[in-house]
Amino acid sequence: MTQDCLFCKIAAGELPAHKLYEDDHILAFLDLHPIRQGHALVIPKAHHVWFEDLPEELATRITSCAQDLARAMKQLYRVERVSLFYTGIHVPHAHAHVVPMHHVHDVTSQAYFHDGPDGYSVPPQPAPEQLAETARVLGKAAGFNRV
Ligand SMILES: [Zn+2]
Repeated sequence: MTQDCLFCKIAAGELPAHKLYEDDHILAFLDLHPIRQGHALVIPKAHHVWFEDLPEELATRITSCAQDLARAMKQLYRVERVSLFYTGIHVPHAHAHVVPMHHVHDVTSQAYFHDGPDGYSVPPQPAPEQLAETARVLGKAAGFNRV
C-alpha cells in the first residue's frame, strides 16, 4: 500500500466506497462522478500505477469482474453496450472504468470535440443515498454477494 493513495485507502477499508464486489485481490465500487448511473471502477487491491504493469492473473480478474458488471448493466439499464477502459487520469492507481452506454458518445464525448478541453466538466455527484441504492441494485443484478 502507498501511504497517500486514495484507492489504496479504499482497498484497505480506510475510506468508504459504494462497494459492488470484493475479494482478496480486487475491489469494485461506484465512481462518485458517474458518466451514467452504475458507472463502476474495478481496482487491484495492490498498488500498481499503470494497467500494463498488472500481473496477467490480476488483469484477468478485473476484466472478469467487469464482464459480470456489464451483463448486469445490460439487463438493468437496457443498454446495447457497456464500455471498459483505463485512462490513468486522476488517481495514480490502476482502475478500470465500466460504464453502461446509453449513447455512442458517452465515452468519446462529442461535447469534448465541440467545446475542447476548456469545455470539459466533471459529471455531478449523486446523493449518497442514490449511490447506495445503485450499488445495492447493481451488485444484486451482477450476482455478487453483498460486501
Ligand atoms: Zn494505490
